[in-house]
Order: sequence, then C-alpha cells, then structure tokens
Amino acid sequence: MEQVFGVIGDPIGHSLSPIIHNDAFMNLGIKARYHAFHVKKQDLEIAVKGMKALGIKGFNVTVPHKVAIIPFLDELDESAQLLHAVNTVVNDNGKLIGYNTDGYGFYRSLKEHVDVHPQNVKVLIIGAGGAARAIYTTLAKEGFSHIDLVNRTVERAHALKENCPIEVKGEVFTYQQFAKSKDPYDVMIQTTSIGMKPNVNEKPIDLKGHVHEKTVVADIIYNPIQTALLQEAESLGLATVDGVGMLVHQGAYAFQLWTGKEPDAERMKQLLYEKLRGTI
Ligand code: NAP
Repeated sequence: MEQVFGVIGDPIGHSLSPIIHNDAFMNLGIKARYHAFHVKKQDLEIAVKGMKALGIKGFNVTVPHKVAIIPFLDELDESAQLLHAVNTVVNDNGKLIGYNTDGYGFYRSLKEHVDVHPQNVKVLIIGAGGAARAIYTTLAKEGFSHIDLVNRTVERAHALKENCPIEVKGEVFTYQQFAKSKDPYDVMIQTTSIGMKPNVNEKPIDLKGHVHEKTVVADIIYNPIQTALLQEAESLGLATVDGVGMLVHQGAYAFQLWTGKEPDAERMKQLLYEKLRGTI
C-alpha cells in the first residue's frame, strides 16, 4: 500500500516540500506520496487526530502551527523539547512524536559553505521569530558563545535570549541601536521575512560598518534565492549562504526520520534551485 506523508500549514499553497519529498520517494523506489494540507488554526486538533486515524506516516508542520501542535502530540523528541517547536512529526505505530529539524538544517547548510568553529566566533541573528529561536538555540547547543540579536520588537528578542535553556553571551538591539554599534561580526544570520518576494529590494540592516573581510552572511529566505542583503554581501566580497540549503537539510533530515533512508540532498537542492529560478 502506498504510504502517505505531508505538510500542514496556513497558507500552504506555495510549499516546495512536496517537490523534494515526492522526487526523493521516486528516486529511492519508495511507494509513498507527500501532500500539502491546508489546515486553519481552529482545525489543528482535529486535523492531527485525522492524520493519526488515517495512518499518515509522518508530516511536516509549518507556520502557524509549530508551537500550537505540541499539546496534540504524544511525545516530543529532545530537539523539539529544546526548541519548544515542532516542524516534523513521526507516526510511530499510532504514537505521534514531534521533532524539530530546522536548527539542524540551518547549521548543516552553514557548515557546508564555510568552515566555522564555534569558539571565538561573534554571531548576529537578525530577527527573533520561530526560525531565529531554532537557530539561536541550535548554535548555543553547538557551543557558540557570543550571539547578539536585533529585532523590531525588542521584547521578543529579550524573551528568546532569556528562555533559551543554554546561556549565551550577547546583546539585544533595536534596529536604531544596532545602526550605531560598530563592532564587526564573524557570522550574520538574517531570519526575518524582510526581503522576501515581492519586497525583494528591502533589507533589515546595512552591512557596512558591521563586517570584516571574512564575515559570512546567511539569509534563510529562499525566495528570492539571492536577497538584497546577500547582494550587498557579495558586492562587499563576502561569503554568503542562501536559504535553500536550510530548506533542503531540514527536509532531508525529516525524510530520514520517516523512512530510515538518506535522500540525495544535492539532488533536492538542484530541484529547488530549478523550481525557484522558474525552469521547472
Ligand atoms: P516569525 O516567527 O513570524 O518571525 C518573523 C520575524 O520577522 C520576526 O523577527 C519579525 O519581527 C520579523 N519581521 C517581519 N516583518 C517585519 C517588518 N516589516 N519589519 C521588521 N521585522 C519584521 O517567522 P519565522 O517562522 O521565524 O520565519 C521567518 C522567515 O524565515 C520567513 O521568511 C520564512 O520563510 C523563513 N524561513 C526559512 C526557512 C528555510 O528553510 N530556509 C525555514 C523557516 C523559516 P517582530 O518580532 O518585530 O514581529
């Protein structure tokens, strides 16, 4: 019998996950399909019960359900407990177990591009939403000891820092305060939605004055692939990391949790680049 997997979210129509997972099932000869399910906030509990009742083998969880789904699951793995959010659910013989592969996906993508060692690295995270929390907590767990935060709602950034179970040195800035600070960063990670299509000319900060020649600039937005911030970084001759790698590696890890098989991450990445560049 064909196994069923999927992703739940609202909105969900533009999700790229079905493309990579369905291709990986085909490529590995696994009889399965991955579907996007549009689930509204008020229907979350019943949708999760339905997933269980229908024997859906596993599913991804995206905005706005990553935290709200927690009470409806049977168990949380260490990653989901640490990040207090779930982006992947495994149906283990009727027991729904929540995982979080977002932070792992980002860190794997970062390491793929640059040789970063946590010690003595000064990091800036721009944003303090769900993705920022996953990345902050993962970097803290990996031993990064200095992470500054800048966010429009500064209270949200303070809460992120204070609620992280691992203590990390670092300051919290408003954008105005950040503009006046002049210390350069080794790694800068953009996690807000500023610069996402259609607002492709927008960027949350100016890099000048905050970088040195070896600074690495990452943006987790993947549409467009090269955001205005990454364009500025390239024009300054800096190494950049786009958001496609994170999308691929969080998905590849979820795929492995569901099937026990490792998908071809490079193939997934090329598929996404082709799709995002409009050639498929
Ligand atoms: P979220 O929880 O809603 O957080 C949104 C963040 O963006 C907050 O820091 C918010 O600041 C900031 N923001 C939004 N609009 C803003 C504006 N007009 N001015 C200033 N700040 C603004 O969302 P999320 O789940 O963290 O996702 C954030 C982005 O990451 C999205 O673009 C998403 O597509 C992308 N993402 C990519 C991947 C990947 O695999 N590559 C994975 C997850 C997310 P406030 O706190 O002040 O509201």
